[in-house]
Amino acid sequence: MICIEEPSPMQTWIRKAKNSQKTIALVPTMGFLHEGHTSLLQKGRTLADRLVLSIFVNPLQFGPGEDLERYPKNREKDLEIAQSCGVDAVFFPDEKAMYPKGFQTTVSVDKLSGPLCGLQRPGHFQGVATVVLKLFHIIQPDFAIFGEKDFQQLKIIQRLVQDLNISTKIVAMPIVREEDGLAKSSRNQYLSMEEREAALSISLSLVKAQAMVDRGEKKIEPLLPMVQATMEETKKIRVEYIQIVDPETLESQQTFLKRPALLAIACHIGKTRLIDNCLL
Ligand code: AMP
Repeated sequence: MICIEEPSPMQTWIRKAKNSQKTIALVPTMGFLHEGHTSLLQKGRTLADRLVLSIFVNPLQFGPGEDLERYPKNREKDLEIAQSCGVDAVFFPDEKAMYPKGFQTTVSVDKLSGPLCGLQRPGHFQGVATVVLKLFHIIQPDFAIFGEKDFQQLKIIQRLVQDLNISTKIVAMPIVREEDGLAKSSRNQYLSMEEREAALSISLSLVKAQAMVDRGEKKIEPLLPMVQATMEETKKIRVEYIQIVDPETLESQQTFLKRPALLAIACHIGKTRLIDNCLL
């Protein structure tokens, strides 16, 4: 496994692989790897001849007051995990390598970036789309694997690829959860024991909503208050949004549930912001 820190040698490595007719899969991450990430890496390993993992905590997608400075890092452990997943190359650039002095070009996927997380994190998805487009240009992957945990991000990348005629195939992978239901996230490590306990009510509320739908609930109205009440029961959770949206347009569904529907949640527990979702 090779570890590369600058775009130019990364491009050289890619050119060599492409010249010998190798296909490439990319898994973009911000590091502090967990089983959610390894499920993407394992998928990537099955899809292509060469597997590239990128690790970059992208400052462009963090707003003022967010957790850019304290975002968890563990380079050694990440490299160990990458190796065990059969990664061929880790692209590990720093901020200077990705955004050299004078950088000013960005890309945005307008409508899809507006709702849900876009409301409280203006500029976030522009940062995501820009870094992913840069990674696609540097690595030219045949496949790129993303998790449904960040459902809005996945939809934005799918749109970006379609709109800009990028030939990378976007592969979506299901949310990996802890045994007790909490969606795996690098940010879970911020949680105290009590906060971790409270966080369980997020996935619990999704399960309860799914059960209501399975029992025949067809209206939006009883679902959202139930989810809110389940989460707020712990008193430790501050809800940012609970929304039922069309999974393609991300437009809010009104009155009646049209399936498929995405139930998406963002909330704050102490200083930690967590998201989760499920397709009802
Ligand atoms: P991150 O490092 O948090 O930016 O995530 C990198 C990629 O891993 C994104 O495509 C995420 O959607 C995906 N991912 C993060 N957590 C999970 C999870 N629990 N299950 C599946 N995919 C995940």
